[in-house]
Amino acid sequence: MSEKLSFVSPTPNSPWGTYLQQVDRVIPYLGDLARWAETLKRPKRALIVDVPIEMDDGRIAHYEGYRVQHNMSRGPGKGGVRFHPDVTLEEVMALSAWMTVKTAAVNLPYGGAKGGIRVDPKKLSQKELEKVTRRYTSEIGIIIGPHTDIPAPDVNTNGQIMAWMMDTYSMNTGGTATGVVTGKPLHLGGSLGRVKATGRGVFVTGREAARRLGLDLRGARIAVQGFGNVGSVAAELFVEAGAIIVAVQDHTGTIVNDKGLDLAGLVPISRTAGGATAFQGGDVVPNAQFWDVQCDILIPAALEGQISAERAKKTTAKLVLEGANGPTVPEADDILAQRGVLVVPDVICNAGGVTVSYFEWVQDFSSFFWDEDEINVRLDRIMMNALNHIWDTADKHKITLRTATYAVACERILIARQERGLYP
Ligand code: NAD
Repeated sequence: MSEKLSFVSPTPNSPWGTYLQQVDRVIPYLGDLARWAETLKRPKRALIVDVPIEMDDGRIAHYEGYRVQHNMSRGPGKGGVRFHPDVTLEEVMALSAWMTVKTAAVNLPYGGAKGGIRVDPKKLSQKELEKVTRRYTSEIGIIIGPHTDIPAPDVNTNGQIMAWMMDTYSMNTGGTATGVVTGKPLHLGGSLGRVKATGRGVFVTGREAARRLGLDLRGARIAVQGFGNVGSVAAELFVEAGAIIVAVQDHTGTIVNDKGLDLAGLVPISRTAGGATAFQGGDVVPNAQFWDVQCDILIPAALEGQISAERAKKTTAKLVLEGANGPTVPEADDILAQRGVLVVPDVICNAGGVTVSYFEWVQDFSSFFWDEDEINVRLDRIMMNALNHIWDTADKHKITLRTATYAVACERILIARQERGLYP
């Protein structure tokens, strides 16, 4: 009954194509709600903006920015902002859709949104970065707001960028709107525990999955791709639990150490310009070897589409924890399932960040701030409740954790859609 979506046609294994296949797989489990399923395949609203700035040398540079609100049936849009030279509208559409599924999977009162600028921030001065951020915020200001759509950090964005976004929005609206973004610095209405929340969520879901698999974390061998906010924090928590990190890959290359990389040395060095491969406590090897490393747990925590069919066939991991969004293409997902490799999917595994973002937003509105223990206890409880519910659904229907997560989440989204009814 529907015309084909025309403005972006998915390319095979692209993030949006992957998302559409994930939705198709869940439709048989939606019962009568399936009549509303097309709504999941269409972003509600997509904005493309021009971001012109004057560079330090006087040149005028233009960057392309996006904000996509995928679905707001259950609440305001929520989702990060990515600064990366490869960002496209199609990628942002997929990331926004995954936010819709994620917020519903952990039952937060949000929809899904995402934003991005097609820019390499590593090539900008601090002043240029601030200008890009502020102009972008001003341009998307017509659709974001504390009750409509709340951005947060993602790849290459951080608390400082959130502070500039909050300030720009506030200047344009004439107040101090702390609730317009999350992931802010602490003294600007940020929340304790937010910086580590996504990595902590990866750890909490991974610890429970390992327990159910009978995999002892003490001595477990872990390979981590992407050693930024998500990957490095998750790695540290697993090491605290007794695991060893045998391989790390970031944008500078791959470093391995069969006896375990020393994170006290690696983490600070990985944050410098030289990246993880500047660390002396391991061997730098060609990137392809990362996928051959003997490991029990694989944590993709970089970008989309990293676990291809080929890589799925050869990984030795028993457990894959998707810290990144969309790291596994659907064909690889099937291969991992056939090989008995358990995948904790992104839409639950990395939901710790948006969960503490939700706590931050609630604290901003009530102007009452919680201590870190309270944040972590509540985070643990929400993640565990969500995971247990999803696990029961997977057992009941004999489906993968990913399809089960989509079943739980899409049911919640479509019930909301049905109850609200169609306007007009
Ligand atoms: P980040 O910018 O802090 O770190 C990204 C890491 O990926 C860096 O170590 C970088 O070197 C590495 N990387 C980049 N390109 C790479 C490549 N081609 N090969 C290998 N490594 C590469 O970003 P982050 O916040 O840690 O986000 C990582 C992933 O987690 C993304 O998929 C993001 O969408 C997802 N995520 C982040 C959050 C959050 O709260 N930050 C929440 C949920 C999901």
